[in-house]
Amino acid sequence: MLTINEHYLKLQASYLFSDIAKRVNEFQTANPDKELIRLGIGDVTKPLPKACVEAFHSAIDEMATEGSFHGYGPEQGYAFLREAIAKHDFQARGAQVEADEIFISDGAKCDTGNIQELFDIKAKIAIPDPVYPVYLDSNVMAGRTGTYKDDRYQDVVYLDSVKDNNFVPNLPSQPVDLIYLCFPNNPTGSTATKEQLKAWVDYARDNKALILFDAAYEAFIRDENLPKSIYEIEGAREVAIEFRSFSKNAGFTGTRCAYTVVPKECFAFDSQGNKQFIHPLWNRRHCTKFNGVSYPVQKAAEAVYSEAGQQQVKELTDYYMANATIVKDAIKELGFSFVGGENSPYIWIDGKRDSWDFFDLLLNKAGVVCTPGAGFGKCGQGFIRISAFNSRDNVERAMAKIRAALK
Ligand SMILES: *Cc1c(COP(=O)(O)O)cnc(C)c1O
Repeated sequence: MLTINEHYLKLQASYLFSDIAKRVNEFQTANPDKELIRLGIGDVTKPLPKACVEAFHSAIDEMATEGSFHGYGPEQGYAFLREAIAKHDFQARGAQVEADEIFISDGAKCDTGNIQELFDIKAKIAIPDPVYPVYLDSNVMAGRTGTYKDDRYQDVVYLDSVKDNNFVPNLPSQPVDLIYLCFPNNPTGSTATKEQLKAWVDYARDNKALILFDAAYEAFIRDENLPKSIYEIEGAREVAIEFRSFSKNAGFTGTRCAYTVVPKECFAFDSQGNKQFIHPLWNRRHCTKFNGVSYPVQKAAEAVYSEAGQQQVKELTDYYMANATIVKDAIKELGFSFVGGENSPYIWIDGKRDSWDFFDLLLNKAGVVCTPGAGFGKCGQGFIRISAFNSRDNVERAMAKIRAALK
């Protein structure tokens, strides 16, 4: 008799997006001629940068002739892309990362979900609340979280991101082994300073812990003093793995390309207490379970680092950031407090009432769809998330409608 992995039965069904869809459908049925603007989505809306499209096209042409055809590539990714990443994303900012420490993949979602495989089932995990659900659910599936009771998994250490700590969690008061951090944050849009990240790096070093740092939104950082990478922090190479993606900076959400940085010094321990380096283990896992990102997609990603590509990515992210400013200005004017929208495409608004009540209010009075914060964790209750990933026209009209409805 085959039994299943019962940890899957502990997963909390996420009704967030189906609940949103249900309420939106009801509204549309009741108001067939009212316009609806969606500011809830976490997907980009603008097309790929021109430099990427050109590189993508010419790589496909290469695939069409015997002389330049590419079959299986290196599992870790082509050197041309890994070298461009190391040079532009890290070395140019004074962060020491080498090309062979970069693993190209088809998504930061998969990488942040898969990385926990390398660690002991008894590892104590620390997870932010509110959170991008992948970190938590992948650990539930593995059996690392215990049972779900009173809105929380019993064996998880939750890192509350609340107004009191400006949405940057405090260091845990009990020992933890594996720490998930995401800055600029989804869903709150908050950012962490060098001093704040330094405190986490020092904590990890002192407590033999490891930081899993999700930097998927680094391209939206405009404040020169904020770190884009955890490797800008002294001592991070031994205690941090970083995840990046081309999804949000270059619109690759449907094209799929991302990467993970595992520095060669990064380590954990075996049961005898001996140091074990993580780089060879992740390399082994990656080569065993993954067969590389397609050549044309890697060529398209490489074009992000060309002069034209850099310019176009800046224009793309500037466009969304100008949307964020429009949202912030309207929200400020209406007297709500919020975080984000300065160095991130998300604005996290304190609705001063239940998340779903605020969602319903915006839907029914303004015809605007947001994301209720409660869907991202217990600490998200009372908040909503508005995303800047939409057209200028839609954002402007949505804010005019919200102003008219709530004034
Ligand atoms: C969008 C997003 C990613 C990127 O995921 P991909 O699989 O690379 O598209 C990673 N982390 C967070 C928090 C995100 O919101």
